[in-house]
Amino acid sequence: QKRQLAELKDKKTVTLDGRQVEIASNIGTPQEVENVLANGGEGIGLYRTEFLYMERETMPTEEEQFQAYKQVLEKMGERPVVVRTLDIGGDKQLPYLSMPEEMNPFLGVRAIRLCLEEQEIFRTQLRALLRASCFGNLKIMFPMIATIEEFREAKKILLEEKKTLKLEGVSVSEEIEIGIMVETPSTAVLADQYAKEVDFFSIGTNDLIQYTMAADRMNERVSYLYQPYNPAILRLVKMVVDAAHAEGKWAGMCGEMAGDATAIPLLIGLGLDEFSMSAPSMLKARSQINQLSHHEMERFAEQALNMQTAEQVKQLVEEKLQV
Ligand code: PEP
Ligand code: MG
Repeated sequence: QKRQLAELKDKKTVTLDGRQVEIASNIGTPQEVENVLANGGEGIGLYRTEFLYMERETMPTEEEQFQAYKQVLEKMGERPVVVRTLDIGGDKQLPYLSMPEEMNPFLGVRAIRLCLEEQEIFRTQLRALLRASCFGNLKIMFPMIATIEEFREAKKILLEEKKTLKLEGVSVSEEIEIGIMVETPSTAVLADQYAKEVDFFSIGTNDLIQYTMAADRMNERVSYLYQPYNPAILRLVKMVVDAAHAEGKWAGMCGEMAGDATAIPLLIGLGLDEFSMSAPSMLKARSQINQLSHHEMERFAEQALNMQTAEQVKQLVEEKLQV
């Protein structure tokens, strides 16, 4: 079986009836890229840049960041690389950045909220990314977007830095797509409006589930509420995918759900375009998708969307598909 999977390494990911999707990987460091390529990754769907900032005494410089981003982009060649801007706060702290204690850190100054507040940190990262953009196929993604104004503000800052760099004579790619993570219910519900302005969506189900179910993703006692198959979650995913497609944009997923064998048939049915997961999961996911009919999964997903509980959806998939 391992050999059969290995044979899929340089193959495309296509359903039985010809719908092609992208299997990509989540990474935290440039060192992981080799493993992504060894496992047949068609792209990087989520580069979590916060690891560049963590476990050190000082802020990484623009040059250090530039080197890291350039390395990833060069190694990936023409393949897409989605870099997420800094997602700190919540449970992640930086020793050199004093952040006031909050009653509910996951509902506080986290990710894009922190970046818009601490603009020097944000601008430094954006400059490093823009400088690296000519070395590959870069896409920039903002985390934890909850309002359209946040996206506009982040994009405005990005374009300001781009303009400054170009005035300094630095070459910057003109092809960079700018997208957002969908991690808050507000953004999923309003996806049709966002779709007019963003180039792509990537659904961060780890947070989207926690915020939709109001259940802390780290708290064991409420882990029973952490339900990827809840029809409420599936409906939010559908809203995002449909909104993207209505505007000719693409929608991916980079939360754990994207690599989950029970969820994958449903996600194919909902029309998801890109699946980003841990490197070791990719070939298995490709093999699974290659054996599914998109058409059949559409009907299947329709059934799931109209169920009442996560348990019913899970049973539907397991019984019908022997996952
Ligand atoms: C997510 O929320 O699904 C996600 C991919 O981001 P993180 O797990 O880094 O919060
Ligand atoms: Mg998240």
